[in-house]
Amino acid sequence: IVAESPSRFGCWHRNSSEEPSPKTNHFGLSIYRHFGDINQAGKRMELMFAKPEVETPSGLKASAVSTRAFKGSSFKAILPKLYTSPFETIFCPDTKQSMYCQILFGLIQRDEVVMIGSIFASTVVRSIKFLENNWKELCSNIKTGQISEWITDSGCRNAASLILKPNLELADLIEDVCSCKSWEGIIRKLWPKTKYIGTVCTGVMLQYTAELEFYCGGLPLVSGFYACSEGAIGINLEPLCKPSDVSYTFLPNMVYYEFLSIKEDCDTDSQNQVQLNAMSHHEDTGPVDLVNVKLGQCYEVLVTSSMGLYRYKVGDIIKVTGFHNNTPQFQFVGRQNVALGVDMERTSEADILKAVAEAKALLDLLGLILTEYTSYGDTSSTPGHYVIFWEIKPKEGNNNNNVGKELDPKVMEECCSKMEDSLHFTYRMYRKENMIAALEIRVVKQGTFESLLDYFVSKGASLSQYKTPSCIKSKEALNILDSRVIAKFFSPRTPTQDN
Ligand code: AMP
Repeated sequence: IVAESPSRFGCWHRNSSEEPSPKTNHFGLSIYRHFGDINQAGKRMELMFAKPEVETPSGLKASAVSTRAFKGSSFKAILPKLYTSPFETIFCPDTKQSMYCQILFGLIQRDEVVMIGSIFASTVVRSIKFLENNWKELCSNIKTGQISEWITDSGCRNAASLILKPNLELADLIEDVCSCKSWEGIIRKLWPKTKYIGTVCTGVMLQYTAELEFYCGGLPLVSGFYACSEGAIGINLEPLCKPSDVSYTFLPNMVYYEFLSIKEDCDTDSQNQVQLNAMSHHEDTGPVDLVNVKLGQCYEVLVTSSMGLYRYKVGDIIKVTGFHNNTPQFQFVGRQNVALGVDMERTSEADILKAVAEAKALLDLLGLILTEYTSYGDTSSTPGHYVIFWEIKPKEGNNNNNVGKELDPKVMEECCSKMEDSLHFTYRMYRKENMIAALEIRVVKQGTFESLLDYFVSKGASLSQYKTPSCIKSKEALNILDSRVIAKFFSPRTPTQDN
């Protein structure tokens, strides 16, 4: 949430009523090099969700930074030409109606769509799942030229009345595509001119890339920006780079950055993924400037900005991976304070992500996809243990809530053990000494993480900026997950020591 003021994101987002030229910034240039002039080629189907403003106790208006960007008059001016979502759908306060209408408008304009995206990969995946659940109704709306009655938002209805006309041919075509058994490559089939998916796929969003790759049928996943409410931070100058290898080049003219070094260096694992050691903490030395960062070193980012932040800890850990000319480039490692722990050990967000990535490969053999996960340190009994919530779906067919019954307990137990084997030395040592009990996977019903999102949005989170927490701390959120558990599995053995 940021207080309203002249936008410091102006230069980051759009601050002129002219169309953004693809060649006026480095990121635009690198996109141009690979995909040509997107603005001339067609429209972007970007899922955007504004959040109502709130008023601070001192009377200042405050809103999510994404909302601030969507509200700018310049953005409003270019929206109809460059994007498929009408303004009213982005500002619709009901996120379900907003999502439905944005997908509807994207389908109607399918022949013009050249880029699909949202700020974070989780939202793109979520919108495809939404389409999976609602395509019949969407097709019926396109067939009749009438939007469903439950869309009560007047802005959305007005926007629909301007563009929605009966189109039997289009409805039949979409119905044909959506009724096929497997949704592999569905994005390419529905929006055949799409050149790339533009969305953040790094950090905690890496977990969504497998599912996104499944849906997008070989389209490049372009993780273009690294930004936060505190300020725009970096851009990706190699748009075709694999999400796991992306480095961001810092933009030194956005805010003033300083860097607190992390005492224990990050490691690089066998897949060349940066991994944050569990017990990292700051050295006693003070912050260093951007020009003084060292290759291979991990840092926590501090921001000083004209908005009034002074050496503000963004809470992100990054690692210097190279230089563009003299400008340092960083790989995103993880959040500083997201730590799972049931004893003295600390397990970072990146540790959990890596362990899940190793284990979920086993699901592939069963024709299943892990769609979301989160974790919880359960200390209700002694010793405590790690609980990892998994939402799983079959690769073929949708909404199979029998998935829990079909899971092979042997494979699932192996998933638990695989996760434990991948965790850091301290965890494995504590497990061996029985200071931590066996890791547990709780499989939840499909749609559970959707309910979790609804809960956080109801508590004030912005849907556009929502990230599923890697680790659950709130009791209410835990109850939502626990009440939807369909199967539980425990690791049957202590982890191996050589890792
Ligand atoms: P917020 O300010 O709530 O929108 O969240 C910003 C946070 O999202 C950052 O501090 C990062 O933790 C995360 N984030 C933003 N961009 C990226 C990115 N490109 N890769 C990984 N994490 C990101």
